[in-house]
Amino acid sequence: MTEPSQNPIPPARPVIGEREIEAAVRVLRSGMVVQGPEVAAFEQEFSELVDGRHCVAVNSGTSALQLTLMAMNLGPGDEVIVPSFSFAATANAVRLVGATPVFVDIERDSFNIDPDAVAAAITPRTAAIMPVHLYGHPAAMDKIMEIARRHDLAVVEDAAQAHGASLHGTPVGAFGLAGCFSFYPTKNMHSLEGGMITTADAGFARTLRLLRNQGMEQRYANEIVGANMRLTDVAAAIGRVQLTQLAGWTQRRQENAKVLDSRITTMTVPPVADGAQHVYHQYTVRVPGDRDAAQAHLKEQGIGSAVYYPTPIHRLKPFLDADGKPGPWDLPETERAATEVLSLPIFPTLTAAELDRIADAANGTGGAR
Ligand SMILES: *Cc1c(COP(=O)(O)O)cnc(C)c1O
Repeated sequence: MTEPSQNPIPPARPVIGEREIEAAVRVLRSGMVVQGPEVAAFEQEFSELVDGRHCVAVNSGTSALQLTLMAMNLGPGDEVIVPSFSFAATANAVRLVGATPVFVDIERDSFNIDPDAVAAAITPRTAAIMPVHLYGHPAAMDKIMEIARRHDLAVVEDAAQAHGASLHGTPVGAFGLAGCFSFYPTKNMHSLEGGMITTADAGFARTLRLLRNQGMEQRYANEIVGANMRLTDVAAAIGRVQLTQLAGWTQRRQENAKVLDSRITTMTVPPVADGAQHVYHQYTVRVPGDRDAAQAHLKEQGIGSAVYYPTPIHRLKPFLDADGKPGPWDLPETERAATEVLSLPIFPTLTAAELDRIADAANGTGGAR
């Protein structure tokens, strides 16, 4: 029987607090609700997270990726190297501009794109490398940037899950030509829906700004063909409130991870690479045996968990060959991860008692008192 103290713990608990509500209402009452001063302030404030890079706010993380590839003029015939072990948005963005995703395998420990596999996948048609900082752990950017330099390739970071993560002191979103963040409610910070593109290149930033707004800087003086991917000022105001809390939330996620690392004995806890600041968008373990049974057990104990991602992108319908089969990809670590991973609750508002229950349930002893 579920006692009051045994309320279910969800996999994630997005925050929409009084400050977020007040910020949204303030903007709504001002009457200036579309892209305006709140968006400009949000961009300015977010740039502190990415070593002062230019920031361009858009209406989602997927838009951030798509707009970046549009600004790079990628299209049919261009190949973009991506991990298959990610959210479909990574490869969708490539396909949305007509380019071809080339799937490569991941490293066992970090779950992120394997630099050796990246190097091996480069062809004369390769236009860009798109690493994902999956679960909030930075990809091996030192090695990836070196490969990119050697082959004169652009790097676009999918940082949708990694606000504030870093490698050897450099924040994600400050390595490549561009970094793309998401502000979807379950991400480490949100703006209901929203995204941000970060870049050190002022000219590229201007192109992004044109493309997100019909190709206009001055109204009705369209310079290029563009889309409408603008963020609203209501969303930006919420994002600004969330951004002020991000550092504290990240610290809580890291502290929660420490507790689970030290307590969980029956599953492989997530390793952290040398020099990496992991921001634990997800706390993802590997389950050695029957994952479905483990998940069912957790559910019985009132612990929500989730599998990110049960199907690697190269096995999803839109990415199959014309004959309905996955392409010629050889991705053993990707296939293995898809069958083994399980993400446990790690969100900042977990209590010490809830962390205990998660660890106990993970160890198969939950509820036994
Ligand atoms: C969430 C996410 C996206 C897309 O962000 P949206 O804001 O949902 O469009 C892209 N890539 C990864 C890895 C994500 O987790």
